[in-house]
Amino acid sequence: MNLPATVIAIFLFLFTAVFASAQTQAGSSAPADPDASLPDSQLIKIVRAASQPASSGPEEHFAGSVRVEPLFSAHDPARAYGSLVTFEPGARTAWHTHTLGQTLIVTDGTGWIQQWGGQKQEIRKGDVVWIPAGQKHWHGATASARMSHIAIVEQLNGKGVEWMEKVSEEQYGNSPSTSKEVTGMGKEPSAAQKLVGDINPKLAELTDNVLFGDVWKRPGLAKRDRSLITVAALIALNRPEQLRSHIRLARENGVTQDEIVEVITHLAFYSGWPNAINAVGVAREVFGNK
Ligand code: MN
Repeated sequence: MNLPATVIAIFLFLFTAVFASAQTQAGSSAPADPDASLPDSQLIKIVRAASQPASSGPEEHFAGSVRVEPLFSAHDPARAYGSLVTFEPGARTAWHTHTLGQTLIVTDGTGWIQQWGGQKQEIRKGDVVWIPAGQKHWHGATASARMSHIAIVEQLNGKGVEWMEKVSEEQYGNSPSTSKEVTGMGKEPSAAQKLVGDINPKLAELTDNVLFGDVWKRPGLAKRDRSLITVAALIALNRPEQLRSHIRLARENGVTQDEIVEVITHLAFYSGWPNAINAVGVAREVFGNK
């Protein structure tokens, strides 16, 4: 046998073996009527079109007219669930993050999406959008056109989304957002200027330019981590006035409500029970006025 003939012979042998094996498997599995032997969770399910009731996007987490049609829920061990969401012109989500990220498939119209600190971007029918885990963002219709997207989210321990504050008219209508009020970086008088600018303009300037303009922007710590340690320090020092604005800033920087509550519990043991109790009062107030 020359070399090509050997190769062909080996190939034929392998092909025959694989084919025979496939036939054996097909013959031994797949009973004629799977319904009789498989549990319900193992059967293919078809959810017929328009058979699941749609609902309005809850006012707590959406603005404007939003219709949510459930498509599929997470079937264990799978973790992804999806829905078709339609935003009328001007409607949008609140700011939020996704535990493991989110995929959006725009099925109709034109909308906007914005990542915290970034520019608002237009999305159109056919576009597919990936939102990485933990990235604060919002999505919705443009001011003049409606937009529909299929939203697919994977959950972790039953949780797929963390809701935050509403998207303001200014953020929705204009470009990039920053936490102007708290950081004092806007053109309006800053929080520090309002607080102490009349009596101590130098302290207001140092707060704006050095503390928030430089220290908070240094890359050595993520803003989220800076927020966590700042909140922790203010709880430990029992400074409810400063804690209030820093819990708000921490939420903007991606610290969740659950995490803030956990910090307070933790610090009850390191900074004292009364400090923790006071912090709960401040947190309740901030969580209540999103
Ligand atoms: Mn989202």
